[in-house]
Order: sequence, then C-alpha cells, then structure tokens
Amino acid sequence: MASQQREAARSADGGGKTAITNVRVFDGRQLVPGTVVISGGRIGTDPAGAQVIDGGGGVLLPGLIDAHVHLDGPGRLAALASYGVTTALDMASVPERTAALRGQAGQTDIRSAGIPAIAPGSLHSHIPGVGERGLIAGPDEAKRFVADRVAEGSDYIKIVVGSPFADHEQATIDALVAAAHEHGKLVVAHASSVESVAKAQAAGADILTHAPRDGVLDAGAVARTAAAGRVVVPTLTMMEAIVNNLAPPDADYANSRASVAALHEAGVPILAGTDANDSPGTPSRVPHGDSLHRELELLVDAGLSTVDALRAATSIPARSFGLPDRGAIEPGLRADLVLVEDDPLRDIRATRSIRRIWCGGFEVRPAATGN
Ligand SMILES: [Zn+2]
Repeated sequence: MASQQREAARSADGGGKTAITNVRVFDGRQLVPGTVVISGGRIGTDPAGAQVIDGGGGVLLPGLIDAHVHLDGPGRLAALASYGVTTALDMASVPERTAALRGQAGQTDIRSAGIPAIAPGSLHSHIPGVGERGLIAGPDEAKRFVADRVAEGSDYIKIVVGSPFADHEQATIDALVAAAHEHGKLVVAHASSVESVAKAQAAGADILTHAPRDGVLDAGAVARTAAAGRVVVPTLTMMEAIVNNLAPPDADYANSRASVAALHEAGVPILAGTDANDSPGTPSRVPHGDSLHRELELLVDAGLSTVDALRAATSIPARSFGLPDRGAIEPGLRADLVLVEDDPLRDIRATRSIRRIWCGGFEVRPAATGN
C-alpha cells in the first residue's frame, strides 16, 4: 500500500525520472560539473527519457544529515526537510510516537534512540515522556534496559552521562555499553562535561555527543578518543545557546569550541548535530532544520574546512551510523539532494542559499531562508 502510494506520487512527478543538468556536484572533496539523474527514488545513471531540470550552474549537495535531533512534536520532519535535512538521527523521544514518523515517503528519513538511560533524581529524569521510562538504578538493570529498547525499535542506545543532580555509577555505564554491544547496537553517550566524557570513554561508548562547557579536553582525553575510533557530535549550536541563554557558572562556549578544534586536529571524525528540540523545560529551544546550517558555520569557526564541515553533515554520519545508502551523490544511493545557488566550499553560509530539495527522490519545497 505504502509503496503503491510512493509509485503514484513519483509518476505524478516526471514519470519517476529526473535529470538535473548544469550543476556542480559535491563529490566529497570538490565540485565536479555534471548531470545527476534521479530514478525511482535513487541516484540513477541514464538520463534517457528523464524530465530535465536546469540547475542553473548551482551546487548539488548530498541531502544533509543532522546527527542529533529530538522528534518531540508534530511538523518536525517537514521543517527538517524544508532546510535540506533529509536524514535526522533522533537522540531521545517517545518510541510509540516516533514509530509513526518512520519510512514516510517524501519526508526526512529518521533513526532513533528512543528512551535514553537516565539516572534517578537527575535533571534528565524530569523530561516529559522519556524521563520516567529511562530510569536505571544500577548495573544489574542494564541487560533488561537494553532489551526493552531493542524491543521498542531503538536503532542505537543513548546513555545520559553526567546529568546535573545525579549521575550513573561507572559500573552502570559499563554494563549498559556491554549490553548494547551484545545486541550489536552503537552507544551514544550524552557527555557535556570533562568528567562525563572520561566516564563515557572508560565504558567504551562509540559516539560522544555534546562538547564539554566546563573545560577543554586535555591531550590524553583527545588521544583516547582518536585511538578508540570514537566519533563526536558536539552540538555546538546547543552549547552556544545554553551559554548565551542560561549563562551557567563555570560554562564557557570557548571550551566547547576548543575541544572540537583539538579533536578535529587529532583526526577524530566530527559530525554535525544540533540538538534541535521543541520541548518545554529543555535549556534552550533549537529550531529543526535551520539550526543545521548554524552548526556548519560553528564547525568551520572551530577549525573545520568547509569540505570537512560538509562531510560532517553527509558522508561521515552515514558511515558512523551504518547508513551506506546515503551521504554521497553516487549511483544507487538514495536521491537525497540539495541544490544551492552559491558555493559552500568558498563560504559555508552558502548552504542556506537553497533552491531545490529532493528527499528520497521526492521534491520538497524549501523554507524561505532569507537568501
Ligand atoms: Zn539532545
């Protein structure tokens, strides 16, 4: 049924085949002049019989991936897609609600952590919908916790490490990571302080998210991150928003920025993620979609080249989260594409100059971006 609807929508849109001509294609390193064919929701090779769209000399990027969002209300997928974010990795949401958002034709494609592992009495235990369900009091509850998440459809396991007021014991984090790995699931650790990064690393978490605001990771911590093959989703947009909006004591955005610079310098893969959310009670609202473009600017400000920033929102998250069907413009991959007018390799802010968007081959109307 769903696939019949998809086919119907495709045939209403140029017989299912489109050729975008006169574009410069980002190949992961540089811009290469060419034509890109969309066929059956995928990147094709043969333009014969295709509806032709003149790209006007613009730049064609792979659809953008936001590696840290919260799908906490209606309309989020449409907002994400309208800013060229064709894949979003949710890092805590109510699984029954998120399930309805999966696999929607012409919408942003999602993966989700579902309910994160939360220490009783911590700040995060008060998050509506997920706080109570995520409570885990000790290591003996880890196997059950992970099994429940897997049964609910979580794509990876999220652990909130270092939440204010109460935190997991190290043994609990260790047991959660071990249980997740037994199920073949990646572990994403929320770690926004130097100490919580150390706890997450000691447990063997695969992916660290946020970047400490209370200090800069020292050379040893950076070297451990690199040696373990860990990846980092610093959510600089949220780190900046928390410092600007709440001005917590002992927090400085410059610390987050400096750790990202050091991690990048050491060769640690950095992913673009925003912590986009619209939940009451969270420290700062970060708008879905629009914020990914701000994150790219902040990553460049922290020392990434424009090419590395684009890779941070395309090929690197695809590789890190095991999504081999996206993150690049190559035959056979999902036709997730963003046509921008200006050259983001020269100025990363050009990712905002969006002219057209395709999400799994379906054209999506861009938000007004002010360009
Ligand atoms: Zn988050």
